[in-house]
Amino acid sequence: MDIIEELVEYSKLAWDRGLTESTGGNMSVRVDKNTIYITPHSSLKHFLTPKDILKITLDDKMIEGDGEPSSERKMHFLIYKERPDVNCVFHVHPTYATAFAVSGEKIPVNTLPEAALLLRDIAYLPYRMPGTQEFADVFTPELKNGKDVFILQNHGVTVIGKSIKAVYEKLETLDFVAKVVFTLKMSGAKIKEIDEREVEKFLESLKSGINS
Ligand code: 13P
Ligand code: ZN
Repeated sequence: MDIIEELVEYSKLAWDRGLTESTGGNMSVRVDKNTIYITPHSSLKHFLTPKDILKITLDDKMIEGDGEPSSERKMHFLIYKERPDVNCVFHVHPTYATAFAVSGEKIPVNTLPEAALLLRDIAYLPYRMPGTQEFADVFTPELKNGKDVFILQNHGVTVIGKSIKAVYEKLETLDFVAKVVFTLKMSGAKIKEIDEREVEKFLESLKSGINS
């Protein structure tokens, strides 16, 4: 699978798994320092094909493709420019994580080991009008802090990382933990978090390879 096919497959998977809805969301992958592949504006990701993907530079010049690139490309540009370690950006509207984005409540990630591992450091960003430079600019301080998961007030989420698979894993874990917590809240059951020392022990064991 080449990188365009991989971007299409994971974008479709995200839509099919309910991790974004209707024409919402946009995904990109880095080609080189100054070039990315990105999904087109207003596309229903289930029907995406490799020929729909556009190749553009980080200063907004079209290189290859037919159509209009995502209206959130200013956010994608800013992330790639600020973070040379990042090769993939998924901006999506997953049902459960977006419910938390609307309420403004923080997602308790120490409720499941994989969430505690992958989502240690979530940034919560204030609402800005979608598609604007102001929307992109609120990411800057948290990108400098090394954050890679962003909950966007009254909008959705953005997840960034080294590879498409790494980003997808974090995204699916994020919506899964949000769903579990949401379900418990609906049922009125208590949420029991894993003891912080247990979380630390788990992270240490992974670092030292015991669990890997
Ligand atoms: P695009 O369809 O332009 O990619 O925008 C979707 C979106 O999620 C806006 O925030
Ligand atoms: Zn959006």
